[in-house]
Amino acid sequence: MNIKQVKKIENEVNYDSILIPYSKKSNFNFEVSEILKEKVKWLTENQEFKENDEKIYERVITNNEEQLKIIFLKLSEEKINSEKIFSDFSKGFSSCRKLKGKKVLVMLDNVLDQINKYDLYEKAIEAAYIANYDFDKYKTKKAENKLEIVDFYTKIENFDKAVIEAENTSKGTILTRNLVNEPPMRMTPEKLAEEAKKTGANSGFEVTVYDKPEIVKLNMNAFLSVGKGSVNTPKLIVMEYNGSKSSEKLGLVGKGLTYDSGGYSIKPSKSMSTMHSDMAGAAAVIGAMSIIASMKLKVNIVAVVAACENRISHEAYLPGDILESMSGKFIEVNNTDAEGRLTLADAVTYIKDKHKVNSIVDLATLTGAIITALGKYRAGSFTNNDDLHEKIEKASNISGEKIWRLPCDEELRQSIESNVADIRNSTQGSTIGGGSITAALFIKEFVEETPWVHIDIAGTSWTDKKLPYSPKGGVGYGARLLYNYAKLMQREN
Ligand SMILES: [Zn+2]
Repeated sequence: MNIKQVKKIENEVNYDSILIPYSKKSNFNFEVSEILKEKVKWLTENQEFKENDEKIYERVITNNEEQLKIIFLKLSEEKINSEKIFSDFSKGFSSCRKLKGKKVLVMLDNVLDQINKYDLYEKAIEAAYIANYDFDKYKTKKAENKLEIVDFYTKIENFDKAVIEAENTSKGTILTRNLVNEPPMRMTPEKLAEEAKKTGANSGFEVTVYDKPEIVKLNMNAFLSVGKGSVNTPKLIVMEYNGSKSSEKLGLVGKGLTYDSGGYSIKPSKSMSTMHSDMAGAAAVIGAMSIIASMKLKVNIVAVVAACENRISHEAYLPGDILESMSGKFIEVNNTDAEGRLTLADAVTYIKDKHKVNSIVDLATLTGAIITALGKYRAGSFTNNDDLHEKIEKASNISGEKIWRLPCDEELRQSIESNVADIRNSTQGSTIGGGSITAALFIKEFVEETPWVHIDIAGTSWTDKKLPYSPKGGVGYGARLLYNYAKLMQREN
């Protein structure tokens, strides 16, 4: 797809669709041909348009004997922010696709007063790229209704800069989706490592992959135990990007369960078919690294994925096992389906001890309880450091990927206390509740004093329902959030 700014409309018949965003303040006064101007005037003055309560008002007219789709997009009036602009424009572009429009002209200046901030109009461009996504690799009949040209008719200065940034952030988000959407047979730990290497080579960061013997040497026994039951052996994927001379180094960790059957604490069959998405945290971290490196941010980042499969075999770990983690702390396993936190425990110890990072942000599809708490449109965040969390929240406001901070209440720590080890991996049998919090408290134990934010994306990373900005499947949540945090870090340095 080709996206660009146009300051003058050569010939409107070059387009088959016109997307007109509007608000109460819009005057619909475009310098286009008289015919089109008349038609838009006529449409906006009719009663049906005035009484339209929906976001979208679509009409197909004839212009110079050609069919022309006109899509009016009503912007959210209250508190315009990145998230609303992204979601509104996604609806607009989805509507263009639904009407089989391929060449779209966007009358952006009709809402110039609402959208004149860089972070906002950049979102409108992102929406065009991201709403054009389909995962049709395994369909012999490919999606036909793809946007080919999107021209933004606007006088905004610096618009080209936003197009470049949006192209990169969208590519990272689409990469994240593709990694998540691949079936588990095609996205094993080894394949995920290969994809990370390929991405590193394309966008400019170093990738080192450690195989099982090396992971054994590192004493990452909690991580290794989770992967013991599978012939697809664990891989430790380490990605490094050094764009700054400063000594400040951010650590990113993504949960990378390329398949989670639950192990011997087996999952019900209904929830098994989407369990290849249990590496959505890892995918988001790889996506973020690709954006950060492509945008050549002046920051230093190490990102780690402890990739493995949680399966059942005569070698798999068992409920009742006691694991010696890389940190030296012993963990009682009372539920093999609470495996993500075991891999994360060793991953945070590794990144802290071997790479001396100043702070850690982890993304993980960690608990179903986060969906009960917050629903599917907002991730839960946890921290041991208010300042770091404040910045992550700022990044989330810019990226439009919503988070909500939940507490790390120490009273809940009792439900992961073990009779036989230092800690246990699940609250099984406890009636205290707060499953997402106790999972965060478990990771916090291994993070120790390092400033840390944990984002539970179990709800936001996957959709069972088509959204304006995403088909069913992987949503690509988090890549842009992490990139925007890195961008804020850069401003500080
Ligand atoms: Zn699990």
